[in-house]
Amino acid sequence: IDADHAMYQAKLMGRNQYVFFEALAEQNKTSNVKVEYDFDNAVNNLEFIGNYQPLIDFRSGDVIGAEVLVRWQHPKLGLVFPDFFIPTLEKSGQIVQLDLYMLKLALSKLKLWADWLPEKFKLNVNVSTSGFASEDFIRYLQEQHQKSAVITERLCIEITEESLILNVDAVKKHLDILKELNISVALDDFGTGYSSLSYLHQFSLDYLKIDKSFVDGLNAISNKVVILNAVVNLAKALKIKTTAEGIETAEQYQKLKEIGCDLGQGYHIAKPLLEADFKRFLLNRSL
Ligand code: C2E
Ligand code: CA
Ligand code: CA
Repeated sequence: IDADHAMYQAKLMGRNQYVFFEALAEQNKTSNVKVEYDFDNAVNNLEFIGNYQPLIDFRSGDVIGAEVLVRWQHPKLGLVFPDFFIPTLEKSGQIVQLDLYMLKLALSKLKLWADWLPEKFKLNVNVSTSGFASEDFIRYLQEQHQKSAVITERLCIEITEESLILNVDAVKKHLDILKELNISVALDDFGTGYSSLSYLHQFSLDYLKIDKSFVDGLNAISNKVVILNAVVNLAKALKIKTTAEGIETAEQYQKLKEIGCDLGQGYHIAKPLLEADFKRFLLNRSL
């Protein structure tokens, strides 16, 4: 319990404490068993909540979307961040259940918020590789589309390059279904993995989320600008919108706007927010 508590504290202090956190995780391997063991209860007790990080349109400055980021409101550990439990859930296969849970949560919020959301607003939901390949996830979307297409059309599903490579056949099929249902797809963390440009025309994608590692250090005179320019222009030619993530400074914001990124996300704009704070942020911004 002490080690768990320290780990939670480390997470609270932020990512700079990562080494400390990893050392603890190593020392506390048994905690993996705990995540797996606590998970089913947590699902039943609705211990997973969403934080909502605004996405802005660079041209207008308007909030035109948000990304749902999962947090575990653990009865003993307090608020736990995804880096702590997602790797374990991926290993155990339970991540598929979490993906479905978060999808349901996102749809329920879209219904709840329908009165005050801007017209073009989209809610981005992260889905794991196995979650996206699963039949249950796609079937649920198809069912919900039947019930209310205006709600499901507000979704944007965030997948990773890994999802495109593993399970290629299922992924191609599922991407086609999403297209039919008018549900957007974003390729997350672009630039960290294989970054294969061939994915961009091989699969039908609506958004390319350029990883924070490209945004970091953009203020310095660096060749990152050259790469970013190339990626943004290539995406434009393919009619794929680009989103820059992890924007932390006004300088980075300005530079990305100049480069011509379509959407921006990061602490400089807003941190992932509690539902009530997110609503306040959005309504204040659109005054
Ligand atoms: P991600 O999808 O790349 O999400 C962005 C992460 O960067 C989030 O961390 C967010 O809080 C953080 N972030 C946003 N802006 C900034 C910034 O300006 N600076 C810095 N340093 N960080 C920023 P978080 O919430 O801890 O999530 C970590 C990862 O966990 C996510 O990375 C995603 O891969 C995964 N994840 C989160 N929620 C879900 C979910 O509901 N389902 C699944 N399958 N995975 C999720
Ligand atoms: Ca994401
Ligand atoms: Ca990302």
